[in-house]
Amino acid sequence: MVGDYHTHTKYSKFFHGKHTIEQMANAANSIGLKELAITDHGPKHMLFGINKHALQHARITVNAMNDRNKVKVYLGLEANLISKDGDIDMRPADAPYVDFVAVGFHRGTWSKFANIFNVNLCKCKQKDPKQIEINTQAYIRAMQKHSIAFLTHLQEYIRVDVKRVAEVAAACGTYIELNNRHFKFTEQEVKDMLSTNVQFIVNSDAHKASAVGEVSRVLKLIDEYGIPKERIVNWDGKQVYLKPYMQIQK
Ligand SMILES: [Zn+2]
Ligand SMILES: [Zn+2]
Repeated sequence: MVGDYHTHTKYSKFFHGKHTIEQMANAANSIGLKELAITDHGPKHMLFGINKHALQHARITVNAMNDRNKVKVYLGLEANLISKDGDIDMRPADAPYVDFVAVGFHRGTWSKFANIFNVNLCKCKQKDPKQIEINTQAYIRAMQKHSIAFLTHLQEYIRVDVKRVAEVAAACGTYIELNNRHFKFTEQEVKDMLSTNVQFIVNSDAHKASAVGEVSRVLKLIDEYGIPKERIVNWDGKQVYLKPYMQIQK
C-alpha cells in the first residue's frame, strides 16, 4: 500500500477523530506509508463537521509538515452529498486550501436529500427502487458538478445502482473506495463494478493514529470477491493521482 487517503483528525468535532494531523502522519511514517491524506467531515455534518476555519488552519500545518516530513501529506475533505441534485458541502471559500475532495453520504447531515436529518433513509427506504434511483442520480450529478477524487463507502446508509455510478465514475476519473470500516458491496455489485472501467482506492477511514493504514479486513474481502490488485490505484507502489477539487457547474 502506497498511502492511506481517508483519515480523520481532531478537526472532525466531538472527539470523532482522536488525533492531530502530526500524530496521524507519524503513524503513517512508522508503518512505512509514503503518503497520507487527511479527510475530515464536511461542515454540514451536525456533529462531526469541521469548523469554519479548519481547512485554512490545517493547510498551514500540512504545508509545514511537507517541508520536513518523510510522509507526503495531502489535505482533503470528506464532503457530504447533501441534495438529490448532487450538491456537496464544499464551501467555495475553502477550495484553495484542499488538494482534493472525496464525497460520501452520511446520516446526521443538514441536507435537502429526503428530510433534513436524512434519518428516513436509514432502513425502511433502502430497498425502495424509487429511492435507489434518486440516490443514483444524486451521485452521478455530484460527479458532473464537482471534480471528485473518490466516492467514500458507497452503499453505506443509502443504496445506489453501483454499475451506473461506476460507469460515470470511470468516465470522470473518480475512484470508488474500498473502505476498511464500511464495506457494503454484494458480490454481484462487485462484479458489476468490475465490468466497467472504474478504478478503486483502498483506505482505512482511520479515526485514530493506531488505525492508519489498517486495511486487513477489506483486503480479505478484496481477495474473496476477486478484485484484481491492478484495479486498485494505491497498491503495488503505483503513483497515485488524486484529481484536484474544482466546481464544474452550479
Ligand atoms: Zn464517511
Ligand atoms: Zn470517513
